[in-house]
Amino acid sequence: MEGKRFIYLDHAATTPARPEVVEAMLPYFTESFGNPSSVYTFSQKNKAKITECRELIANTLGAKSNEIYFTAGGSESDNWALKATAEAYAEKGKHIITTKIEHHAILHTAQYLESRGFEVTYLDVDENGLVKLDQLKSAIRPDTILISVMFANNEIGTIEPIKEIGEIAKEHGIIFHTDAVQAYGQVPINVDECHIDMLSASGHKLNGPKGIGFLYIRTGLKLRSFVHGGAQERSRRAGTENVTGIVGLAKAAEIAFETMEERTKKECELRDYLIDRVLAEVPYARLNGHRSKRLPNNVNISFQFIEGESMLIMLDMAGICGSSGSACTSGSLDPSHVLLAIGLPHEIAHGSLRLTLGDENTKEEMDYVVDKIKEIVEKLRSMSPLYEDFVRKNVQ
Ligand SMILES: *Cc1c(COP(=O)(O)O)cnc(C)c1O
Repeated sequence: MEGKRFIYLDHAATTPARPEVVEAMLPYFTESFGNPSSVYTFSQKNKAKITECRELIANTLGAKSNEIYFTAGGSESDNWALKATAEAYAEKGKHIITTKIEHHAILHTAQYLESRGFEVTYLDVDENGLVKLDQLKSAIRPDTILISVMFANNEIGTIEPIKEIGEIAKEHGIIFHTDAVQAYGQVPINVDECHIDMLSASGHKLNGPKGIGFLYIRTGLKLRSFVHGGAQERSRRAGTENVTGIVGLAKAAEIAFETMEERTKKECELRDYLIDRVLAEVPYARLNGHRSKRLPNNVNISFQFIEGESMLIMLDMAGICGSSGSACTSGSLDPSHVLLAIGLPHEIAHGSLRLTLGDENTKEEMDYVVDKIKEIVEKLRSMSPLYEDFVRKNVQ
């Protein structure tokens, strides 16, 4: 841990860019600064570089390169997918199906569409966070135009049955979008095998730069421009290309897919080690999310009689970065919509801790983290009247 001042366990919020990513990006800020739309050779080289990046990313998904559209990140991709589909297919119908556990980039866009006259069904999930396929099937109506279900959840790590959902969507001729921001680079994805029509991803969740992402749009979808202006991104998303960002995203994707097997195997081992130790050594703790259908880097545990926020502050003092819900909801006092959707009562949802691992984490760090969690939980419980009460009633 030489030179390291803290243990970073919040990779679902964002990740550090790899040195190779930064190195690949640097020349495009300075000597290779040309606008890819210009006609001279100097700039055309950048156009060629973007094409190369688009191909590389398409290959990671089994897609075609002209189906990859660069955006400013996951939120923009999600907005684009939902709003453009709604607009383009409104004549066919105004019904959209999504889930209660989506990221706010989906949920708030869906609510916006509701205010514009669309009807949205928010599917429940089971106690592990899995979408219920029967409920999905019965939610489908003749006027359903879109199903949007996330590939994997950012809070509890549950990986959804995307292939089965894709098959159901295809059977009914409904467009299927998936927010794969957490899954892309962590699990293999093939858009044809899963019948995915649109897919969102973001650079900064896979050791790439922030402010860059992409939306995969299957050939044949009739979506109009999302940003009007120049002819970039096949005239669907105008604006001079974020060349540095695109180069960084492609480098990050290249490394993520090359190293996936080994990297995620190591992460799963660390994840399970952390989960097993905490559950064995801390009483009144429970794991949230599916035990095995789970992102390799996600740990989410609820501790009874504890405030997640207090725990985060004490972990911070011990040099540990974690999260108590999604980064977007911290700061508000509402418990996480995801934890409520899996059926946790408010007080238990409030006592939840999300730790998300990355490439650079080690077993020594996990041991340190478990020791700190034990100390902190004990301390917070010793100050809790609820816990005192509980112990008095239950332990003779
Ligand atoms: C982070 C995240 C987003 C938003 O991506 P940005 O690039 O930060 O806009 C969307 N969906 C999920 C599941 C995420 O985890």
